[in-house]
Amino acid sequence: MPVTRRSFLRTAALSSAAVSAMPLFTEAQLAQAQRRMPRKADPAGAIRIDANENPLGPCAAACSTISALIPEGGRYDSDLTDKLAATFAAQEGLKPEYVSVYAGSSEPLHYTVLAFTAPGRAYVTADPGYEAGMRAAAMNGAPVVKVPLTATHAHDTAAMLAAAPEGGVFYICNPNNPTGTTTPREAIERLLAQKPAGSILLIDEAYIHFSDATPSLDLVKADKDVIVLRTFSKLYGMAGVRCGLAIGRPDLLLKIGYYGMNPMPIMAVAAATTSLEEPGIIAQRKTINADLRNQTFEWLAANNYKFIPSETNCFMIDTGRPGHEVMAAMAEHNVYIGRVWPIMPTSVRITVGTAKDMAEFQSAFKQVMSAPPGSPARAAVLRNGSGMLS
Ligand code: PLP
Repeated sequence: MPVTRRSFLRTAALSSAAVSAMPLFTEAQLAQAQRRMPRKADPAGAIRIDANENPLGPCAAACSTISALIPEGGRYDSDLTDKLAATFAAQEGLKPEYVSVYAGSSEPLHYTVLAFTAPGRAYVTADPGYEAGMRAAAMNGAPVVKVPLTATHAHDTAAMLAAAPEGGVFYICNPNNPTGTTTPREAIERLLAQKPAGSILLIDEAYIHFSDATPSLDLVKADKDVIVLRTFSKLYGMAGVRCGLAIGRPDLLLKIGYYGMNPMPIMAVAAATTSLEEPGIIAQRKTINADLRNQTFEWLAANNYKFIPSETNCFMIDTGRPGHEVMAAMAEHNVYIGRVWPIMPTSVRITVGTAKDMAEFQSAFKQVMSAPPGSPARAAVLRNGSGMLS
């Protein structure tokens, strides 16, 4: 933790020009950067299981909505945005003014951290955890406090509070990225009851639909100091279309609303509304993802690879060797896997892709792992490839 605080305070002290050249922090930016690395492999045939995307894409009804709206693309139309907020609010039993629509959840995540942290009000997050909020905190000159997950890979909310009694934002990613693990409701409630005045809980539910975690929208309904983030990028397969929601008390939403002013793309909000109205989509996609994830877990267990059981579309494998080396070796096979967190340097994050993606992942991973790290044998295997790319 002290190292983290020091490094982020150092970063925060940089000039604004330097801040804009800071490391990339969102899933989208990190994946793009990795995929642009020089490589011998064929970019068109790449297996992309590195950014927690959903290979199913938008559902068929959402695609039809987008196509049908193209001729209307010359118009500003905020009614469609209001309709999305109203639809979500009605489904969840909320008032529409408790829902703000954004182009994905990265924006409200960033804005919430800007609004509720300060040099004396820390951003408190889990380790390993999703990194995007740390950048916003650094830009604000706020301390960043990273607290290791518990032994069961939940957020250690008691330790988070103890580490930052002056915290401004307590970020709970439930389920967590990258581990795909959940945090018990009691732990969230305890933190909410004990947190310092004026602070908020930012509960990121990007992956909630894949899991059995308890949603936190009832805390919003009860007017607590809570902002919940939802996105259409994951289960709904709209990462490239861009739509997300911030759900909270109107006074909290107003504070984060100051930072953004862009009207929403009409295709994005209309496709999101269609997705919400699509019968059975959550259960269907949750099952598709869980089946592929569990098949992969069975294969990993049968081959004695260590992994953290996850409830979402991503999971961590402990490779027992430097994770960056495994990522690079997998890229040689044209299989792009997710990244490494400093607190777990031998682990890599894998996204659940299609059945074909997971088969190709298994083939490449076995070859990479069956050669000793850095050995000539491994280099030879990598040169010859897995055969799947030709
Ligand atoms: N929150 C978490 C935990 C994520 O993993 C991501 C993306 O992967 C996001 C938020 C942001 O997603 P988007 O901006 O596409 O909604």
